[in-house]
Amino acid sequence: MPLPAVLAEALGVLLPDRCAGCAVEGPVLCRDCSRALHAAEPMLVRPRHGGAVHAAQPYEGVARAALLALKESGRTDLARPLAISLAGALRAALPPGDAPVPVVPVPASAAGDRRRGYRPVELLLRRAGLQPTRLLRARADAGAQQKSLDRAGRAAARDDAYAVLPAGRRMRRTGVLLVDDVVTTGATLAAAAAALESAGIPVLGRAALCATPERIPRTSAPERW
Ligand SMILES: [Zn+2]
Repeated sequence: MPLPAVLAEALGVLLPDRCAGCAVEGPVLCRDCSRALHAAEPMLVRPRHGGAVHAAQPYEGVARAALLALKESGRTDLARPLAISLAGALRAALPPGDAPVPVVPVPASAAGDRRRGYRPVELLLRRAGLQPTRLLRARADAGAQQKSLDRAGRAAARDDAYAVLPAGRRMRRTGVLLVDDVVTTGATLAAAAAALESAGIPVLGRAALCATPERIPRTSAPERW
């Protein structure tokens, strides 16, 4: 991470009147950071687990600092610029056709939602002009169980990490678009998709705001990675 982003991350809580990307005094994102954020093109990533994911940003620099500030420092004013970026990935992830597809966020832990008082992915979707459809619930015991497992064990354990809410029955015909904030190994999205599909709900596409650079195949990654 570039130094300014580290600074911005550290100062975000104390200095809300600074750019979340580089900590310069002023608006929520300065002109340079805003330009950097909007310059990114949606990319197709193939994480180790699950299917391909359309991601709006590499999880680094301004995007990473802004998403962390939104999630951890209450900077909800960053939801709009991030949502504009996410919208590009959502468009890319949608199957062709005019029929509206319900957009289902992957839920965070209940504890995280309580601590924040808002749900970051849902907030991003609303700022993108979409109504999120809540279909998934994180099982309470899944998080505690995962902490004691290694990475492969965690991926396997996540097969039952989510429960599908009864409203999902209506989505069996339409299918859904699944959305998360960050994709790393893909295990979280894969677990959410598995829960939906085992309830008979087709997952027509997967999108994320950010993807970790090391998961992006070389062919689609700029040289600096
Ligand atoms: Zn800046």
